[in-house]
Amino acid sequence: MYARIVVDVNAKRVDRLFDYEVPEQLKSVVQIGMRVVVPFGPRKRQGYIIELMDEAHEKELKSILHIQDMTPELNKELIALSEWMQTTHIAKRIAVLDIMLPRAVKGKYHKVYRLEEPEEISDELYTLFRKQQVRISSLSADDILKLKPYVESGVITEDIEVNQQQQVKTLKAVELCDINVEQALATLRSDKQKDCLLSLADEGRLTLKELKARDFSAAVVSGLEKKGLIRKIEIEAARDPFAHRTVHPDAKKVLLTEQQAAYNRIRQSIDDEEHRVFLLHGITGSGKTEVYLQTIADVLAQNKTALMLVPEIALTPQMVERFKARFGDEVAVMHSGLSIGERYDEWRKIRSGQARVSVGARSSVFAPFENLGIIIIDEEHEASYKQEDYPRYHARDVAFWRGSYHNCPVVLGSATPSLESYARAEKGVYELLTIQTRANQFPVPTVQVVNMRDELAAGNRSMFSAELTRAINDRIQKGEQIVLFLNRRGHAQFLLCRDCGHVPNCPNCDISLTYHKVTDELKCHYCGHKEYKPLTCPNCESEHIREMGVGTQKVEELIYQHFEGARVIRMDNDTTSRKGAHEQLLTKFKNQEANILLGTQMIAKGLDFPNITLVGVLNADTMLNLPDFRSSERTFQLLTQVAGRAGRADKEGHVIIQTYNPEHYAVQYAKNNDYAGFYKEEMTYRKIGKYPPYYYLVNLVFSHAEMKEVLLESKHIHQTLLQHLSPSSYVLGPAPCTIARINNQYRFQIIIKFKSEPALLEALTYLDDHYYDKFVKNKFSLSIDINPQML
Ligand code: ADP
Ligand code: ZN
Ligand code: ZN
Repeated sequence: MYARIVVDVNAKRVDRLFDYEVPEQLKSVVQIGMRVVVPFGPRKRQGYIIELMDEAHEKELKSILHIQDMTPELNKELIALSEWMQTTHIAKRIAVLDIMLPRAVKGKYHKVYRLEEPEEISDELYTLFRKQQVRISSLSADDILKLKPYVESGVITEDIEVNQQQQVKTLKAVELCDINVEQALATLRSDKQKDCLLSLADEGRLTLKELKARDFSAAVVSGLEKKGLIRKIEIEAARDPFAHRTVHPDAKKVLLTEQQAAYNRIRQSIDDEEHRVFLLHGITGSGKTEVYLQTIADVLAQNKTALMLVPEIALTPQMVERFKARFGDEVAVMHSGLSIGERYDEWRKIRSGQARVSVGARSSVFAPFENLGIIIIDEEHEASYKQEDYPRYHARDVAFWRGSYHNCPVVLGSATPSLESYARAEKGVYELLTIQTRANQFPVPTVQVVNMRDELAAGNRSMFSAELTRAINDRIQKGEQIVLFLNRRGHAQFLLCRDCGHVPNCPNCDISLTYHKVTDELKCHYCGHKEYKPLTCPNCESEHIREMGVGTQKVEELIYQHFEGARVIRMDNDTTSRKGAHEQLLTKFKNQEANILLGTQMIAKGLDFPNITLVGVLNADTMLNLPDFRSSERTFQLLTQVAGRAGRADKEGHVIIQTYNPEHYAVQYAKNNDYAGFYKEEMTYRKIGKYPPYYYLVNLVFSHAEMKEVLLESKHIHQTLLQHLSPSSYVLGPAPCTIARINNQYRFQIIIKFKSEPALLEALTYLDDHYYDKFVKNKFSLSIDINPQML
C-alpha cells in the first residue's frame, strides 16, 4: 500500500506530490485526508495524505513514520478544492491546504486524548491513560484502532495540546442559591446588592469579570455571599464565546412582498438542487438578513447545511445573536477574535455535524460542511473577502466552486453591489433580486451634504461645520444618540515642519511616518520602523514641527472642547484591540452610557440602535484622492453604509456629510441613495479606462534591493509576457509602485488587462516557477495578484 502526500515544505520546486510506502502496522488505520509525519531529506516533515494506492510509480520509497490524526482532517471536497486553487491561483498546494484548516491542526500542535468515563473501557486500554492525557504519537496503530470507537462515542475526548495561555480552563464565577428572589430583595438594604441579585436572577450566573464590568464590587458580592443568597463556583471555560449569554429565541417574521419574491426564487434553487448565483440587491434595512434566515431554515429542514459569510467588521455580537436566536446551538461562529482552541472547537462542531450553520468571516468559506444547501455572502462588495496575502484568493470565487460542487445556490447580498457583480447580473449570468423598501417601513434618512470650502470661506476652521455643530447640540439636548464617522484611510497623523515643509519619512520606505500620540513615537506602517518624535525639525532645526492630519483621538479631544454634555465612546484600532472590547463598547453605547459614538470604518456596519438619529461623516472625501480605480466605488459604498445607520427605528434619521468635493458624483449619488445612477456613470469611466468589469486585471509586483536589478528584470518579464499573451491583451509597465520602496526593497509593477486570455495561467505559472529559483539565488521577488482589489 502506498500513499501520495503533500509534504509541508516551503519551497516552490517541491510543490508536487510525493509517494511513500505505508508500513504494515499502519495499513489498517491510514485514510485519505489524515496528517502524517514522513522523512523528507535529512528531516521529518508533516504531510497530508491525498491518495492511497496499491501500486507506486517510483521504486525504493521511504515509509510513513507515524500518523497524527485518528480521523482525517481533510475531506474529499477540500482536497479537490485545493487542487483547483493551486492551478488557478498560482499558489502552492501546501499553502492552500494551510489556509483551509484551523491553526490547531497545523504544525506544532499535537492531538491528545483524555479518558472521560474510565468505567467504560477495558483494563488493558485503561493503562494507556496513566497520565491525564496521551499524545497520539505515543499510541500504536493497534491502540488507535481499539480507541477509535470510544472517541466516536465520547468516552474518550480528542483535543489539541495548547499551552496554558491559549487554553483557559476554569473561570471564577458566582451563582444564585436556591432562594426566593422577591423575599430576598426585601431583606436587602443596599441598592447595589439588589441590582446584583437581580442581574443574577436574570442570568443565572456571572463570572467575577462580568460582575466587575457591571460595577459590582467585591464587597457587594461577598455581602450577598455571607447572607447565603449566592455562592462562589468555578465554571469550565467551554471555549465558546457565547456560552454564558442568554439568547432569546426569535421566530420568523412574515415576509413582505419583495422579500417573499426573493425568498421564492432562492427556495426554488434549493429545492431543485441546482447551482445558481443570485445577487440580492436590497437597501440597508430592507430585511435581507431575514431572507437569509428563512432560506437557511429551509435548508436545515431538508437536512442540509448552510454557510453564511459576513465581513469581519460586520461580525458583531448583534449579528451573531440574530443567528443564534433563530438556530440556537446549530450555529458555529468563526472569526479572528477567537483563540486557537475556540476556533478549533467551532470548526469541529461543523465537521461532526453538531453545527449545521456557520457564520463567519472570509476564511470560514472553507468550513468542512458536507451536503451544503446554500452559501450566502452578505455585503458581497466588501474588499475584506479578498485575502491580500499569499495565497491570494477571493471568498466569492471559492464559494462559487463549492456551490457548484454541492449543487446549491450562492446568494450575494448587498445594498451597494460591486460593479463586477451588478454587471454580471445585468448580463443574466447571475439572477438579480431586488428589495427597494425598508422592512421597518420607515423612510430612508434625509442626507445633507455640507461644503467644507464654504465653511472655510466663512471663517470656520474647525472640523465641525455650522450645520453639524447645530445638529449635534440639538441631539445632545434631546437625549438622542449620534454616530460620528472619521474616514481612516488617508487620514493618518504625520509631522510637518511649518518653516521648511519637511515631513519625516521612513528611512526604509517611501512613505511618511505616522505619529502615535500615546507613545510619542513615529512609526512606519509598512516595515515597522520606529523612532522618537524629534523636538526640532531634522532639516532646518525649527521648533515649529507639529502633527498634521487628524486621528480619532484628536477628534475625541475636539468634541469635548466643542460640545457641552458630550459623552464619547471612541472605536478604532487602539480601543478595540483587546478581545471582547468591541462588544463592550457597543453594549455601553446601547445602554446609553454615551451619546456620541466616534469611530472609523468599523462602525459603518451592523449597528442597529433605535436611538441614533444623527450620523455625521466628518471627512467624506479622503478616499477619493487615493490613486485607485475603485476609489469612487468605495466612497459611494461607504457613505451609503454609514447613512444606513440612522433612523432604523421609530425616530427619523438625519445624515450630514462633510466634504471638500460636494459635487463629486460618488457623493451626490450616495446622498440621493441612487445606486443605479452611480452604477451607470461609474461604468462609463471603467469602460474608458479599460478597468473591471470591462477588463480583467492581473497585478505583478517585483522587488529587489537594487533599483537597477529590479528595473532590468521587470523589463525582461514585460517582454516574456508580450511573447506569451495574445495581442488583444494589454501589458502595462513596468512602472514604480505607488509606494516605490518598502523595507529597502524597490518595487515595480506590471499590469495586465485582458478580456479573455487562454494563455494567462500558463504564462503566470512559468514566471512564478522561474522567479522562485531567481529569488532563492538572487533575492528577487515576484508577487502575482489576479483580480486585485487595489492597484
Ligand atoms: P438588512 O439586512 O437588509 O440591512 P435587516 O434584515 O437587518 O435588513 O432588517 C432591518 C430591520 O427590519 C430589522 O430590525 C428586522 O428585524 C426588521 N425586519 C426584517 N424583515 C421584516 C419583516 N418581514 N417584518 C417585520 N420586520 C422585519
Ligand atoms: Zn524644517
Ligand atoms: Zn518603513
